[in-house]
Amino acid sequence: MARDFYEVLGVDRKANQDEIKKAYRQLARESHPDRNPDDPEAEERFKEIQQANDALSDPEKRKQYDAGGMFSGLGGAPGGGGFPGGGFSGDVGDIFSNLFGRGRGGGTEPRAAAGRDLETEVNLSFDQAVHGTQITVTVPTTGPCPTCGGTGAEPGTSPRVCPRCEGRGIDSQSQGFFSISQPCPECGGAGQLIDDPCATCGGQGITRQTKRYRVNIPAGVHDGSRIRLAGKGEAGIRGGPQGDLYVTTRVAPSTVFKQRPDGNLEVELPVTLPEAIQGATVEVPTIDGSKRIRIPPGTRHGSTQRLRGEGPPRTSGKGRGDIYYRVALDVPGELNDEQREAVEGLAKAFNGSDPREDLLKQAARSDGSGKVDD
Ligand SMILES: [Zn+2]
Ligand SMILES: [Zn+2]
Repeated sequence: MARDFYEVLGVDRKANQDEIKKAYRQLARESHPDRNPDDPEAEERFKEIQQANDALSDPEKRKQYDAGGMFSGLGGAPGGGGFPGGGFSGDVGDIFSNLFGRGRGGGTEPRAAAGRDLETEVNLSFDQAVHGTQITVTVPTTGPCPTCGGTGAEPGTSPRVCPRCEGRGIDSQSQGFFSISQPCPECGGAGQLIDDPCATCGGQGITRQTKRYRVNIPAGVHDGSRIRLAGKGEAGIRGGPQGDLYVTTRVAPSTVFKQRPDGNLEVELPVTLPEAIQGATVEVPTIDGSKRIRIPPGTRHGSTQRLRGEGPPRTSGKGRGDIYYRVALDVPGELNDEQREAVEGLAKAFNGSDPREDLLKQAARSDGSGKVDD
């Protein structure tokens, strides 16, 4: 349930507008998320304070609130208020266009600039990367100043249109045939002047803030995949669009599954000599458990068997990748008597066949000497 707005600001129901303003400014400073980087509640509290101030600082809205009118629907949806400035991480672009639209003069809008993009990284386990997950990222960013709401002017005052450039932010001077344009020296290109700059942001209207976002990590991301969160970058300037946030995934390697550049997985699969010679059905690990695959007779070391559709989902969204099992002949270091006897028998049976015969012949040909050196 949303708390009573008077309670949030810690003021009496009969408090005058000055007392409300004072209480709000004090609280907004104390609970600013910038000042409480380790307190996850700070942002929520901050929103609440903004909301309360929005409702109570405007005598009209306050009357309605007191009458239980337009704010009655807010109970179940804290932070979802439909009045401007209510949402701290709300649409900053809108807040800016409202503010700067008001101060506009001379019919020309001051130039807007897009906010900077931000970059961050998240560390994932192999399992999280393969199956997807939700992760919270904390990013240092910028947002509208909580004290002045983004105007850059002390609360109670407002910026005025620059008289020199009439709000255009550009100073044009004719010199003969040429008209030379430069940023207005009076307002520095902002198009407006702030006589009484806000103490919190120094008149910038923007402060450094720490924000947390829940990021949906889709299944099948790789080490180095980038996820774009549109509009979660730094605040735009003078109504410009917000930048984007790019999240790069760092995936801890698995001891079993290697991520191949093509998005499929590879597993080194030990196979005994008899299995490779005679063929066998063997159990192999998959990302969801295990499966059985057929090793055909005469399987060579280093060859691969593929299980289609058993890999992680493709990031293109089209189905799932494959898992390749690369056969590694398992050569035992120690043998028991029975095995030794069997290997001796095998050696005898293979006596006279030299698998290197072709290799040596080919090497001799390419050498051109026609002789094989020892
Ligand atoms: Zn400010
Ligand atoms: Zn100017």
